[in-house]
Amino acid sequence: MLYAFFALLVLFIGFTLFRTLLLSRRETIPADLRFIPVNLEDAISRLSKAIQFKTISKQDASLVDGDEFKKMHSFLEKAFPQVHETLNKEIINHYSLLFKWEGSNPELKPMMLTCHLDVVPVEPGTEDDWDHPPFQGAITDEHIYGRGTMDVQSGVMAILEAAEALLKQGFSPERTIYLGFGHDEEIDGEFGASEIGRILAERGIELEFLLDEGLPVVEELIEGIKSPVALVAVAEKGYLSLELSILTEGGHSSVPQGKTSIARLGEALHRLEENPLPAKFDGLVKSTFESLCSGMPFPLRYAFANLWMFKTPLRRFLTTIPATDAALRTTTATTIFESGVKENVIPTMAKAVVNFRIHPNDSIESVITHVKKVINDSDIKVEKLFGYIEPSIVSSVENNSYRQLARSIRQIFPEVAVAPSLMVGATDARHYSAISENIYRFFPLRAEQSDLDRVHGTNERLSIENYGEMIQFYSRLVINASVSKPSETLKSVSVPVKPAQS
Ligand SMILES: [Zn+2]
Repeated sequence: MLYAFFALLVLFIGFTLFRTLLLSRRETIPADLRFIPVNLEDAISRLSKAIQFKTISKQDASLVDGDEFKKMHSFLEKAFPQVHETLNKEIINHYSLLFKWEGSNPELKPMMLTCHLDVVPVEPGTEDDWDHPPFQGAITDEHIYGRGTMDVQSGVMAILEAAEALLKQGFSPERTIYLGFGHDEEIDGEFGASEIGRILAERGIELEFLLDEGLPVVEELIEGIKSPVALVAVAEKGYLSLELSILTEGGHSSVPQGKTSIARLGEALHRLEENPLPAKFDGLVKSTFESLCSGMPFPLRYAFANLWMFKTPLRRFLTTIPATDAALRTTTATTIFESGVKENVIPTMAKAVVNFRIHPNDSIESVITHVKKVINDSDIKVEKLFGYIEPSIVSSVENNSYRQLARSIRQIFPEVAVAPSLMVGATDARHYSAISENIYRFFPLRAEQSDLDRVHGTNERLSIENYGEMIQFYSRLVINASVSKPSETLKSVSVPVKPAQS
């Protein structure tokens, strides 16, 4: 009996350790030092010129300076002559650009790379806080400064640099490649990406996959994981603000009658925050952590490798950390509360706004049903505020497109762990959902945690070396995803071992 028990115990330990080991292995990508020849100094000076156009998006569209976009279009024409000679260019809604690079094999579905031409304004009063003026495109020894260096004119320019460099090498894709550059992403993309997506859908285009801007390669993203992490967003959370309001009798504060509007609404809000939508340890979260496993300390690796045993405690643990909690569920946050005008008057009306970031497991409808059930007070009116967005579909990580994308990231950033993830903010990507099921969001920008404040903030900047990596990343992705024998294509290129510095 005792013997049988020990035999089982050994078997159990062996089995769970074996699973841990399996998950700890990282697919090794052979070190590949072949790069497309790019003169980085020239590329940086072209980026510096692009930064100088004030293609600023403003909430009031009548204040947008369309000439700046037109000037940028003519600059791109001069900067990338081969692209403009070989690819078909269309101007969409005056300021957005759509390029088509015809592939030789019409049987293959096209791929698409997107980024946006517009940038956010510089917050008035912060201009002097910049080390270099935001629209000067100043180049220092290590960096290029300016609005758009991180979000995301650098992306537009790196994609065009990659295409120009590949064309110079005589490269021609088998798969057709679209390049789409919207002009109003920062104000929801309703006239840019949305129109490009609509036109392509009208033409019956169905994409193999689309890559939009997204999360960068972040150092020290998750405590305990040593390597930098490249999170490829395969879905976007939805957005919903609900206004909750209640109207009661009110009256003089010297003769209160029952619960006030404030108390009733306060109780409802308290119940809502106490009972958020459920956290689920679903397929996406599982693949995120499995992909990051190899860099984790042993106990966590052991737990993730044996989810059948540890799913519930892991889910509980992850919901105690705000960032991972937000990845597991629809979040609930009360953001506005308004009531009362005078200290001795009981107000009749109380209202509040609660903001939800909707997990792809939920929908606007299911959130509203949950809210009404939890607050359980029929006198409280629940109304949607304008600007709501359903969560996106979740794109697969089991297809060739995702594998090619992950492979391209690791060929250029070999030390990085690549993992699928959920994006909390919205990008232009959602405007292409009618033409592709495989939509990914990733940007080959290296950032430390402290750099993330520079996006939409002060002293936005990009390292010159990183810009070289961006160009190499997009050219590698184009090669990997658009021809059937990528390695032969790379061999045919005469290549320096590092991105050319000058
Ligand atoms: Zn952006």
